Amino acid sequence: MKNIQAFKALIDVPGRMVIITHFKPDADALGSSLGLAGFLKKKGHQVTVITPSDYPAFLSWMPGNSEVVALSNESKEPEKKAKTAIAAADAVFCLDFSSLKRIEDLEESVRKAPGKKILIDHHLEPDQFADFVQWDARAASTAGLVFQLIEQIDEKQRIDANIANCLYAGVMTDTGGFRHSNTTQTEFLVASELTGLGANPSYVAKQIYDTNSLERLKLTGFVLSKKLQVVPDYHTAYITLTSDELKQFSSQTGDTEGLVNYGLSIKGIKLSVLMYDRKEEIKLSFRSLGDFSVNEMARKYFEGGGHKNASGGTSRVSLEETLQRFLKILPEYKSQLSN
Ligand code: 5GP
Ligand code: MN
Repeated sequence: MKNIQAFKALIDVPGRMVIITHFKPDADALGSSLGLAGFLKKKGHQVTVITPSDYPAFLSWMPGNSEVVALSNESKEPEKKAKTAIAAADAVFCLDFSSLKRIEDLEESVRKAPGKKILIDHHLEPDQFADFVQWDARAASTAGLVFQLIEQIDEKQRIDANIANCLYAGVMTDTGGFRHSNTTQTEFLVASELTGLGANPSYVAKQIYDTNSLERLKLTGFVLSKKLQVVPDYHTAYITLTSDELKQFSSQTGDTEGLVNYGLSIKGIKLSVLMYDRKEEIKLSFRSLGDFSVNEMARKYFEGGGHKNASGGTSRVSLEETLQRFLKILPEYKSQLSN
């Protein structure tokens, strides 16, 4: 962060802090938010963590979860509470997203908020709206950036086991369990520091990866045996899931997370895509290997973005039309995908 002294002055005076992360938050989004919340509370702030939607049950173990203001379709109450907190905040922290579009119904409230704005993120091509920025596209996780910021202001000693577990969860998941190409020495150093401060790697891994429902595993089995398709000429794999198929396996938020990685685990595959019907829209997840940029593809064709090798997007036509559209754009990337 450039103007670190001004940032320090801002957070050294106890005040009202809001932390907001993206729609359908993952472990890095929620872990970095709750980790930062724990830290700010220890500094005497009143902190409100806001999520623009619900999130997977395998994240509910995170300390601070019960106080999260999560917007929902069932009630307008959380949205009211969130907007009031944003308008009254001395500072609004925006974590793990680079485009205000990703906080959906809260975009305007954050844009108009009178408090200082702080962006902590690692996605490509960030919007310019923040007063303070801790941004690094080479960083594997936002949780790691939160850790480095705390380190930079010399307050590492405030990190306790609860904060460490939240941050560790973000580092672990955004590196795919320390397997993706974004796993560098830095991620191991951050994970090591967090473990020294009380994070419990096997506990966090168990909570996130091994608390499946039987239905979720059966959905995975169904996808692998019936839905995973390969386009050999383009070294591409894809999966589509209709809302009926998701209903058949009593699918909950988060149950589709990780499915897209199976496509990429096939030898020779360079691009993997998951498309599923989220009712209000079709959600797409892209993963790639090497130099092929799914960020570019998601931005150009599916109102999305993310990282070079992991991006997301949406489509407002039917699932079948979305698939046809995707298959039709593949030839444009022939030279990159087919050799
Ligand atoms: P996932 O496929 O796991 O949902 O997301 C992969 C990456 O792309 C994550 O870093 C996520 O934050 C980002 N991402 C997912 N959906 C969108 C989207 O609709 N727009 C943008 N800009 N990024 C997205
Ligand atoms: Mn992230």
